[in-house]
Amino acid sequence: MAVTSSSMLLLRNFSTVGRVAQSVRVTSRIFFSTGELIRVLPYTRSKRLICSTRAAHNEEAAAKAAASVADTGAPTIFDKIIAKEIPSDIVYEDENVLAFRDINPQAPVHVLVIPKLRDGLTSLGKAEPRHVEVLGQLLHASKIVAEKEGILDGFRVVINNGVEACQSVYHLHLHVLGGRQMKWPPG
Ligand code: AMP
Repeated sequence: MAVTSSSMLLLRNFSTVGRVAQSVRVTSRIFFSTGELIRVLPYTRSKRLICSTRAAHNEEAAAKAAASVADTGAPTIFDKIIAKEIPSDIVYEDENVLAFRDINPQAPVHVLVIPKLRDGLTSLGKAEPRHVEVLGQLLHASKIVAEKEGILDGFRVVINNGVEACQSVYHLHLHVLGGRQMKWPPG
């Protein structure tokens, strides 16, 4: 019933059938997942709300799942990428660093920069004085990536550290993001 009245409301507000159908689907999802009818939200806002809420839940769930193996030193998917056992879209590579496109990009340019040798750097929080050189190499490689990708005038470098920052892979990596206007503060 609520979904029906919601669709009536949307019918008044949207001109094309396709858009209405999509909107009804979106609205009913909000209704059933939250128990609250958010039909008063404009179409684009409600759709964005669902996407960002779902993405946030996925990221948090992945981070929590990964945390259980964080300190075991277990190999990660990045070891397979370094060993070229699984494919990746490599943007830059040198003796110490590998940079490849994120499989789930959050911006037109989204590249991960990682040390080829993890050496205990499961996260930035594990950094020791012996890592200073490679940390510098990673930052420098991030700049090279930004240059290669044509985003030197505006890009962001992010390191998620630990569960609360939604780290999901325990092999230090820098996210190089750009190609769109960034917002501050980050979510
Ligand atoms: P974080 O959540 O900061 O630990 O970032 C891990 C990142 O690795 C996420 O943005 C994922 O999308 C990305 N990722 C995971 N598996 C792959 C893969 N096989 N190729 C490229 N990126 C990946």
